[in-house]
Amino acid sequence: MPLDRRKFIKLSGLTVLGLAGSSPARIFAQETPAETESEPGIHPLTAKRWAMVVNLRECMAHPDCSDCVSACNHVHNVPQFDNKKDEVKWIWKDTFPHIFEDAEHEYLKEDIKHAPVLALCNHCDNPPCVRVCPTQATWKREKDGIVMMDWHRCIGCRYCVVACPYGARSFNWRDPRPFIKDIQTDFPTRMRGVVEKCIFCEERLSKGLMPACVDACKYGAMAFGDLEEPDSPVRELLRNNFTIRRKPGLGTQPEVYYIV
Ligand code: SF4
Repeated sequence: MPLDRRKFIKLSGLTVLGLAGSSPARIFAQETPAETESEPGIHPLTAKRWAMVVNLRECMAHPDCSDCVSACNHVHNVPQFDNKKDEVKWIWKDTFPHIFEDAEHEYLKEDIKHAPVLALCNHCDNPPCVRVCPTQATWKREKDGIVMMDWHRCIGCRYCVVACPYGARSFNWRDPRPFIKDIQTDFPTRMRGVVEKCIFCEERLSKGLMPACVDACKYGAMAFGDLEEPDSPVRELLRNNFTIRRKPGLGTQPEVYYIV
């Protein structure tokens, strides 16, 4: 464990008082060994600000498709528990009223009301989860905006789970390893007592690959690219479609956009 108990309590106290997170610079931590380094000869995908666009119209047209969820679970060794309480989620489906609570109303179109909507970590520009972490087990990468996780630094305090307004963080209440169907040896498994979430497939980007969910979508419903590059696919989609984000009023600035 990276911190002794006394140091943790001190840091926790600072966080509760709002002092540890008072500087905007704090959300950017130094890069750590948890970040995947590119191998020689491999050209990583890079961006100044990664963002995702999900086309809900396509998802609604194919409500039974879960290829993106399966692909993500597979490459990241996400356990499949048989009860909701222990569930670990990186990308998941829920109903429109649950995902977009502030857009719900009594007279919402029936097909939208029951439409399956994809949800994942929004890699927020102003992430409350990062601000509350007492050990910097989660941080925002300055070079491209990905909100990272280092499972070795996580002490399981779950402040981030409470702080995330999107339910994007899961806690391992049980040892996940016996519940992983086909363990992938090129991605770490986690352990009981740590939090996990989507990391925008930073390990694949470093190998020149797109996120697993984007690659797996056969309907082209997911786009991923550089928000600061005017000609990128995400910018083109945002230019040409009406899009919404989850809970925009909170000021977290999510970087996952939905075409509705
Ligand atoms: Fe953090 Fe939640 Fe935003 Fe992801 S969606 S960056 S976990 S606050």
